[in-house]
Amino acid sequence: MSAREVVVPAESDGTMEDVESFRLRARSWLADAMPLLPEGMNNHQLSRQDEMGERARYLQRILSGGGFAGLCFPREYGGQGLSRAHQRAFNQESLPYQMPTLFNVPTFSILAATLIEFGTEEQKHRHLPAILRGDELWVQFLSEPSGGSDLAGLVTRATRDGDTFVINGSKIWSSGAFRSDYAMCLARTNSQVPKHRGLTMFIMKIHQPGVEVRQIAMVNGTAEFCQEFFDDVIVPDGDVVGEVDDGWTVASRLLFHERDAVGGGSPYISGVAVAGSGGGAQRSDLVNLAARMGKLGDVRVRQLLAEDRINSRVQNQLVRRISAGIRAGALPPPAGALPRLFAATSTERHLDIALDVAGGSMAVWMDEDSEDANWGEAFLNRQGGSLGGGSSEMARNIISERVLGMPREPAADRDIPFDQVRHN
Ligand SMILES: Cc1cc2nc3c(=O)[nH]c(=O)nc-3n(C[C@H](O)[C@H](O)[C@H](O)COP(=O)(O)OP(=O)(O)OC[C@H]3O[C@@H](n4cnc5c(N)ncnc54)[C@H](O)[C@@H]3O)c2cc1C
Repeated sequence: MSAREVVVPAESDGTMEDVESFRLRARSWLADAMPLLPEGMNNHQLSRQDEMGERARYLQRILSGGGFAGLCFPREYGGQGLSRAHQRAFNQESLPYQMPTLFNVPTFSILAATLIEFGTEEQKHRHLPAILRGDELWVQFLSEPSGGSDLAGLVTRATRDGDTFVINGSKIWSSGAFRSDYAMCLARTNSQVPKHRGLTMFIMKIHQPGVEVRQIAMVNGTAEFCQEFFDDVIVPDGDVVGEVDDGWTVASRLLFHERDAVGGGSPYISGVAVAGSGGGAQRSDLVNLAARMGKLGDVRVRQLLAEDRINSRVQNQLVRRISAGIRAGALPPPAGALPRLFAATSTERHLDIALDVAGGSMAVWMDEDSEDANWGEAFLNRQGGSLGGGSSEMARNIISERVLGMPREPAADRDIPFDQVRHN
């Protein structure tokens, strides 16, 4: 397989195990092997607890031992080589159980997906089976303190030194870096060419001399985001992903996988993406919320619940339609920005409706673990979906320029060597 070949898991092609017999096999294995979710909790709530890294590794090892890890990953790298339909069936069957959802984004759906397409055989055999066994959590080192939207304008430097690179600089907003093992890190290897042409993507071991990871306290009381400082970090040239100075090609595809994951279209996500579920809290929970508030008879609330249900249906159909269109070549890969934008705006609307329904009951008390407080905490994270994976404004830019073919926005640094661009 060439490094640039785009790997797209097919729908079931007739040579694989029949989806319904797979479903029954999965159902019986899950009942024997996986712990049930505690009453009233979903995997999203469970995975927010402190020990989530260790819990996820433990659960992923069980899946791996049972032959249910990496359903859509190629068999030669430890996956099961099955189809999206098998993954959907497994997601539905796994709903009552604890699942290692922490691995889904970015490890499986973004970084492993990118490694499949651009990694060398040695890199793929080194990391993909370890990832699927639950031994490696990965993180993205892309955004920098100077700004994340202009990713190609980053300033972290990688300087060649014999058969290694030496990396200096800083990354920020890296989700879960403190508990992760490896990162894909984009750095500048050439400043004498325009900004997109002098970048290289590296595999970076996080726990090594020169890498300092600091957690950032967030408004909801967690410290999931991190900032990293690189002081002469050594990376062997065998850990370059793709070609030196061609990291933008790798990053563009990584961002495609990120949009796909955030928008709900990734085949590598296991255990959450099922019909009727939205990001974070389950959509059906909104009906329960309205019932608890005694508002199911309120005409306006009923209209809001209907709006939310319609958004959920549209989201699921949009994901399937756009994913199928991209797979068939009828739509360009940047069309992945469409479901990603819809997911962000409909999640905001979902949480606005929750606040409208619950009012002051959603106020958060840090030590409280009631269902209403969970809604309040979700509301504090409301904006995250419009920034993570690139902002909603940038998604609109992508749709207008690269899907609809409208003129590109003006850029003062286009085609100018990076070291001649005026900064700040
Ligand atoms: C939940 C979450 C998880 C994240 N995880 C990671 C991670 O793991 N690794 C990582 O590297 N980063 C991560 N990020 C960072 C994320 O990629 C950045 O927040 C995002 O790219 C925006 O960058 P910024 O915050 O620096 O905002 P800026 O780039 O400074 O932008 C500020 C505002 O200006 C707008 N803007 C900027 N340029 C334009 C333009 N050309 N046209 C129109 N509007 C524009 C933006 O939309 C935004 O509203 C995460 C962010 C969130 C919220």
